[in-house]
Amino acid sequence: MSSERAIEAGGTIVNAMSVDVEDYFHVSAFDRVVSRSSWDLFDSRVVANTNRLLELFDRAGIRATFFVLGWVAERFPALVRQIASSGHEVASHGYHHQLLYMLTPRQFREDVRSAKRVLENTIGAPVLGYRAPSYSVIASSLWAFDVLIEEGYAYDTSIFPIHHDRYGIPDAPRHVHRIERACGSLVEMPASTVRVGRVNVPIAGGGYFRLLPYAWTRWGIRRVNRVEQRPVVFYLHPWEIDPDQPRLRVGTATRLRHYTGLGRTVERLARLSRDFRFDSVAAILKLLPKAADGRSTSPRPTLTLVAQK
Ligand SMILES: [Zn+2]
Repeated sequence: MSSERAIEAGGTIVNAMSVDVEDYFHVSAFDRVVSRSSWDLFDSRVVANTNRLLELFDRAGIRATFFVLGWVAERFPALVRQIASSGHEVASHGYHHQLLYMLTPRQFREDVRSAKRVLENTIGAPVLGYRAPSYSVIASSLWAFDVLIEEGYAYDTSIFPIHHDRYGIPDAPRHVHRIERACGSLVEMPASTVRVGRVNVPIAGGGYFRLLPYAWTRWGIRRVNRVEQRPVVFYLHPWEIDPDQPRLRVGTATRLRHYTGLGRTVERLARLSRDFRFDSVAAILKLLPKAADGRSTSPRPTLTLVAQK
């Protein structure tokens, strides 16, 4: 890649691929039926599912960013080292998967600090990126950026510029931008949308990828890549490729959002990998130094960031 816009020779836009590494019982929508103190009692499936994703990405030549929950890293350090040694970026999904707007700044600082510490100790390299559980950076929780900057994070990808019942800042910028705060700055890569009329509509990942036809995702990413000449950031979770996960007793809306389409995600990912090019978030944001062979190497925190305007 050669320019700020992650455009390869030949004009192909390279998009960011990301995975939020958590188990099926960590999902915020299950908070009412699954208490944090009971997590250790569940049959964990995150290692097997993440390994399947690693194999899939390896076959497809995709390098990704894995936003790993600190709780997962503490219990399965070999998985985190496997992610890093496979050439992917390891980033932070916080420690306890708590919605950010339910926390005080002090609690949030403890969460992102302990997650960063366990991840960095596990892989022996700096962790630059953060994604909040359920995109829970909203208009009333922008103080979170001060904490992230002070705790040494270089980028965030937690803003969803849409209307939603649990998250979203509908009028936030739709593309990569720098967030300036009194204590410093960081780069924000918002969740990807297309503009339809006066509304931003999600296109790139999670339930939107499973519940809507594949053609919607393909149309949306193509539109952002070709018309706007911008990369998207695609996201998914290891449990989204696992149709055999235990079913939890939840309400109808949550059941539909969580369990619909689990059996077709792998096939859709294979299609996605044929239709588009992907790399890690840090690579798209130009946070990685170039190695002599043209491949980027592990993240270094001291580089100057190049954000897209
Ligand atoms: Zn999550």
